Amino acid sequence: MSTASTAPVPVSRVHHWAAEADVLVAGNGCAGASASIEAVAAGAEVLVVDAAGGWGGATAMSGGEIYLGGGTSVQKACGFEDSVDAMYAFLKLATGPDPAEDKLAVYCEGSLEHFDWLVRCGVTFVPKLWTEPSWEAPTGYGLMYTGGENAYPFAGLVPPAPRGHIVHMEDKLPGERSAGWMLIKNLTATQERAGVEVRYNTRAERLVVDGERVVGAEVVTFGERYFVRARRGVVLAAGGFAANPAMLSQHAPRLATGTFLVGTDNDDGRGIRMGQAVGAAVRHMDAGLAAFPADPALLYRSLLLNGRGHRFINEDTYPGRVGQATVFQQDRKAFLLYDETTNEEAARLAEHVVQPTWVSDDLGELEKEMGIAPGVLAGTVAVYNAGAERGEDPEWHKAAQWLRPLEPPYGVLDLREAPYGVFTIGGLHTSTRGEVLNAEGDPIPGLFAAGRTTSGIPSWGYCSGTSLGDSTFFGRRAGRAVATA
Ligand SMILES: Cc1cc2nc3c(=O)[nH]c(=O)nc-3n(C[C@H](O)[C@H](O)[C@H](O)COP(=O)(O)OP(=O)(O)OC[C@H]3O[C@@H](n4cnc5c(N)ncnc54)[C@H](O)[C@@H]3O)c2cc1C
Repeated sequence: MSTASTAPVPVSRVHHWAAEADVLVAGNGCAGASASIEAVAAGAEVLVVDAAGGWGGATAMSGGEIYLGGGTSVQKACGFEDSVDAMYAFLKLATGPDPAEDKLAVYCEGSLEHFDWLVRCGVTFVPKLWTEPSWEAPTGYGLMYTGGENAYPFAGLVPPAPRGHIVHMEDKLPGERSAGWMLIKNLTATQERAGVEVRYNTRAERLVVDGERVVGAEVVTFGERYFVRARRGVVLAAGGFAANPAMLSQHAPRLATGTFLVGTDNDDGRGIRMGQAVGAAVRHMDAGLAAFPADPALLYRSLLLNGRGHRFINEDTYPGRVGQATVFQQDRKAFLLYDETTNEEAARLAEHVVQPTWVSDDLGELEKEMGIAPGVLAGTVAVYNAGAERGEDPEWHKAAQWLRPLEPPYGVLDLREAPYGVFTIGGLHTSTRGEVLNAEGDPIPGLFAAGRTTSGIPSWGYCSGTSLGDSTFFGRRAGRAVATA
């Protein structure tokens, strides 16, 4: 991780521009690639630099789920009705507190056009719904619920529709060889056809300013530093800060310990700090995805208990929502309680099979192992079982299809020490055009940003697909805006 200063360089100190373009984009993940494609389409000459040795960033590692809706051809072919209003209403609830209402409005309004643009870039989606609880769908499925739309509390508030559009990729291996690679492969192929110059192993280190205006950047490649002039502006698309322990401790301490990086080492927050160094405001820097550390196939069918033996969320919602609730509200203290039938079902369906930490016919004995007060577990199970007999969950409203009274012998999976995969979703404050805003809410001339360098659609609550969706959609808008700046 580079520790070089991000303090901006006054243009008076630049004696030679070693390269120049209308637009300089820092980062060639999905946000930067999308920005570059649209900037060229709007008539700009674009140079992209990326600190890594090739394209991809976190995008290439991702599951390739993109949050789209409003009645896409994939949704229709799978038999779902959706509307812009329903998509907006759901995201407003699910991404709060403090949802980015202005961004949500243009995002939902533009979702069908964005779907068509991705298809024009060569991205394909198979019109087939995947319904098993999981982080990723196997090859051959192009649509799934990725935000808890069909679960409590949202299902009762907004007509549910699946909106996780999964990029098609042959021979996927969920978690190891995922579809995000196919997304960025198509975006960078489109970028190449458009004639964008990309320089790899080239890190943007700090911005160059002429008064308040950003006019370029200093970059470094294999130890050699040079200045790149950006006649119309710079787009920061350099990912988030989950790989920067100091920034995590400072801004998102709950994500700093007991977690592992979901992203790349270049998620070091430099893009955000470069923006801050010229006066940019930030938003929701404490927010992030925290992936619940048990297989969704087991989670949905179990009772999720906190450190005191009580349930605290419906287990059948989006596992990222469960992860956030556990990390931010329960101090990462969680147990899964289930029985033999559940264990067998989950073992058949789960992506990773695990054995329970303790097994017993006696809830009192398990309570002692778990360190919770006597009688609490019996009460929790009695309430759950009584509801399940009637096909309902009066406490947390888990859907009837996941309810079944638990029977001895019981198993408990102790997740108190289990690490959570995290990436950050807070970042630079931007307008819907991708302009970076200062503390007064005014655009900083010549500076734009997109993707996880910014705070976007997933402002606090996260749904799978909103990061790739936000990064590509607002990357495009930043590209168009900077090209005409
Ligand atoms: C395993 C995994 C699964 C995921 N699944 C999904 C999913 O299904 N759906 C979803 O929406 N999201 C998913 N995500 C999250 C999503 O992939 C990222 O949030 C998203 O790709 C961010 O895009 P980006 O363009 O902002 O960043 P990136 O794709 O990380 O691109 C940033 C680029 O900037 C470069 N860079 C960094 N610093 C500099 C610098 N100073 N100068 C020049 N270049 C720099 C990096 O090398 C990188 O190439 C997943 C992430 C992971 C890791």
